[in-house]
Amino acid sequence: MSKIKVMSELLANKIAAGEVIEKISSVVKELVENSIDAGSKNITVNLVNSGLESIEVMDDGSGMDREDAKSCFLRHATSKLYKEEDLYFIDTLGFRGEALASIAAVAEVKLATYNGKESSYIHIKGGTILEEKECPEKKGTDIEVSNIFYNTPARLKYLKSESTELAGCTSFIERLSLSKPDIAFTLTNNEKVIVKTSDSGNLKKTIHEIYGMDISKNLLEFKNENDDFIISGYACKPHILRSNRNSMITILNGRIVKNNDINNAINDAYYTYKPVDKYPVVVLCIETDPTIIDVNIHPTKQDVKISKIKDLSSLITDTIKKALYDNLLIVKPAEEKELTPFDEVIENKEEENSVLEKEEKPVINEQIFMDFRKEEVIHNKELKSLKLYPVGLALGTYIIAENEEGIYLLDQHAAYERINYERYMKKLREKDVSKVPLLIPMTIELSPSDFISLMEKRDILESLNVDFEEFGINTIIVKAHPTWLKEGYEEESIRRIIELIIGLDKKFDRVKFEEKIAITLACKMSIKANMHISMTEIEYILDELVKCDNPYNCPHGRPTIIKFTIYDLEKMFKRVMD
Ligand code: ZN
Ligand code: ZN
Repeated sequence: MSKIKVMSELLANKIAAGEVIEKISSVVKELVENSIDAGSKNITVNLVNSGLESIEVMDDGSGMDREDAKSCFLRHATSKLYKEEDLYFIDTLGFRGEALASIAAVAEVKLATYNGKESSYIHIKGGTILEEKECPEKKGTDIEVSNIFYNTPARLKYLKSESTELAGCTSFIERLSLSKPDIAFTLTNNEKVIVKTSDSGNLKKTIHEIYGMDISKNLLEFKNENDDFIISGYACKPHILRSNRNSMITILNGRIVKNNDINNAINDAYYTYKPVDKYPVVVLCIETDPTIIDVNIHPTKQDVKISKIKDLSSLITDTIKKALYDNLLIVKPAEEKELTPFDEVIENKEEENSVLEKEEKPVINEQIFMDFRKEEVIHNKELKSLKLYPVGLALGTYIIAENEEGIYLLDQHAAYERINYERYMKKLREKDVSKVPLLIPMTIELSPSDFISLMEKRDILESLNVDFEEFGINTIIVKAHPTWLKEGYEEESIRRIIELIIGLDKKFDRVKFEEKIAITLACKMSIKANMHISMTEIEYILDELVKCDNPYNCPHGRPTIIKFTIYDLEKMFKRVMD
């Protein structure tokens, strides 16, 4: 029986709408997803001039019979959906059968396919079949799309420059290969290899193949679940960061998706571990009951809506946060690349693929990952026993410390800020209700709009144990304040808190608000750079810092400590050779 059926008109209209071909990558996406649906293990995408001239997709999948080869270019043909209800339980990747027909209508398409029984070759241009015959019997499908929009030049201008289109295709194939570590992907442009992954079935190895050594050796594995979701994946250590969100990747039930709430949840996990304008590399896999997801809200199918998103978000944040916390690492200065087992893998990759039996591969990988784990355990131990002895102060800004492992440079402001931040957080979390009554009330004058805004949210200020009253025009008097405000800086602290309350937007999040208070006050109340502090103060900072939950970052995510191990120093002074 033929695998492709004609969709009901109703279903076609429902899906219908927008997306036909807006970018080269949307054509690549359609073709490659068909290859995945055909059970391919090897998929190669060859572009000429970023696909503007031609796009070829070759796979080793199940191939098509003669009838399917022809009918896949008919409008609304699809092998994946039959009934309207199926729309809600989509478990194959592609589902809009009209895409191939749309492509064939505006380009030249050559299709060669063999399903093990019969082969067929079809050449279509502008929707018209030019040639149909048998072809060499090579299992799978080879489809070439060239001269897109040759017959509709007005649409050509929608396509972007070669470099933009190539970037789009590259990013698509990168993400797709991360969601399918068991499929080997190759992407070339003008015969130059751009992406190449193996079919190892091992996500960490795929991450390595895509992002390289610097990322793959700095990954933390995580895993967790609640009643509705199972999550797993890899998150980079906080000293490996990117300036955009493109490397935060979510794979939902095996499919790449985009969801802002999920991105925010990942980002929240790195709160105070990184600057706000930097983003981590995270590959997050989520498994859940498909009825919880609505994939069809956007025709590109990457945007999803998820019910119970709140539960999912906190599961993600808590899990990644814990992984980061368990694996805190001292930020080291840029080091020369050391040879690790992964390097050998890269060098031997060609050999490995051709010479070694497939069954042997997992064994090799296991070995690599065990070495990685060992490394992380050592760092954990290092954290627990961190002790820093003062040496002095340089440039009025950097504390120099030492221990049996090496030399440490600390940014005095960042370090002090971390200490104060954790202290404020503790007080705010404890809900310490003790107050200091003021004999002489503090008068705070505000602008009219700030005053109105504060009065609208007065319960927030009250909830922080600040007793106050309206007093005349646009003025409040404070009669008592919480005990944890720094002595001598009470008024400034209250003013900062009021500023934060006025700046709050509608979506009030208590936890984030408290973190903000703690960061702001910690920054303002900490010694600055260029202040020559005494040895006693240095000792105090070192003693308090090592007691912190995270001594390695200031609450803005900047590093507090830079470590030079004895080995680093000996290497720099050439006392040892590698
Ligand atoms: Zn600061
Ligand atoms: Zn800071």
